[in-house]
Amino acid sequence: MTTAREIHLASRPAGWPTPDNFRLVEVPVPDPGPGQVLVRNQVMSVDPYMRGRMNDVKSYVPPFQVGAALDGGAVGEVVAVGEGVELAPGDVVLHGLGWREYALLEARAARPVDPTLAPASAYLGALGMPGLTAYAGLLDVAAMKPGETVFVSAAAGAVGSLVGQIAKLRGAARVVGSAGSPAKVDYLRELGFDAAFDYHAGPVRESLRAAAPEGIDVYFDNVGGDHLEAAISALRNHGRVALCGAISQYNATEPPAAPRNLALAIGKRLTLRGFIVGDHAHLRDAFVAELAGWLSSGQLRYDETFVDGLPNAPEAFLGLLRGDNLGKMLVRL
Ligand code: NDP
Repeated sequence: MTTAREIHLASRPAGWPTPDNFRLVEVPVPDPGPGQVLVRNQVMSVDPYMRGRMNDVKSYVPPFQVGAALDGGAVGEVVAVGEGVELAPGDVVLHGLGWREYALLEARAARPVDPTLAPASAYLGALGMPGLTAYAGLLDVAAMKPGETVFVSAAAGAVGSLVGQIAKLRGAARVVGSAGSPAKVDYLRELGFDAAFDYHAGPVRESLRAAAPEGIDVYFDNVGGDHLEAAISALRNHGRVALCGAISQYNATEPPAAPRNLALAIGKRLTLRGFIVGDHAHLRDAFVAELAGWLSSGQLRYDETFVDGLPNAPEAFLGLLRGDNLGKMLVRL
């Protein structure tokens, strides 16, 4: 019998996850039944939201189960199909059963990708969920308009690097990003950000004031905590915040100390709006069309950080939480 490997949740972390929370398990490779496909995964995604799924709490996605395989976005090649399936061996598909070398899926849960537009891995990043998050959060949730000043945190990551570039391409007057190292700050300048700062270099509030002395109109929040507090201070009247993520809190064992200045939202008539990318699927076609245009004209760039091999997927995930990635963090299987 042919076997392959998958990663199980061995235990739930308290605070920062460790390699002990994961287990590499050898399992048989099944044959597809009617309506099913067997996919050899080529690239899988590790994403910050997976940290929340390691906790046993009710959320917008169900928690991972201890003793069962993790899941998440992946792309791979169809290697066998069951009866009544239109997909054929050799097709490259996007689906939700990552963290394993082979995925057995209902064919309707596998979406063919167009590898002529971009390499398949891009469908896990710029052309996929993180790209749509950036596009929908900036243009729909925060309703950015030409001429405005935009601030984005975790700006060198998958979502943030696209937010900054899309803002410029859609006519923002000034785009400011924060990230966790001087090398990432240099990278943001290469991407065309007007100003960027390392949030370790000083209080975020002061760094943001120096980078956007006239204030900001939009804050795309990937981080929460002191970043959100600094943005609330910097926002002009009628400013908008797209609450996308709060990665500074995902491994915290205590409630956050900030923001302490939320009452400013009243006098400034601010809008702070949380969102989940899945609610914006109706924008997918517009997003792919516009992004594909920018990619082919060379106006937009995306980067990927690859870790090799399924056994290293937990380390890739931990590295993502630490900030080891530039652009999208992926695992090549
Ligand atoms: P990234 O590629 O941005 O990777 C995460 C980054 O977060 C790291 O590279 C690290 O960069 C940064 N980071 C880690 N800890 C901290 C901290 N304490 N303070 C500031 N930055 C930190 O991930 P994604 O682009 O996939 O996700 C970005 C955010 O968007 C996350 O909060 C995620 O949960 C959220 N998200 C929300 C979605 C939604 O539907 N609402 C959908 C997809 C993502 P650095 O070196 O700069 O610290």
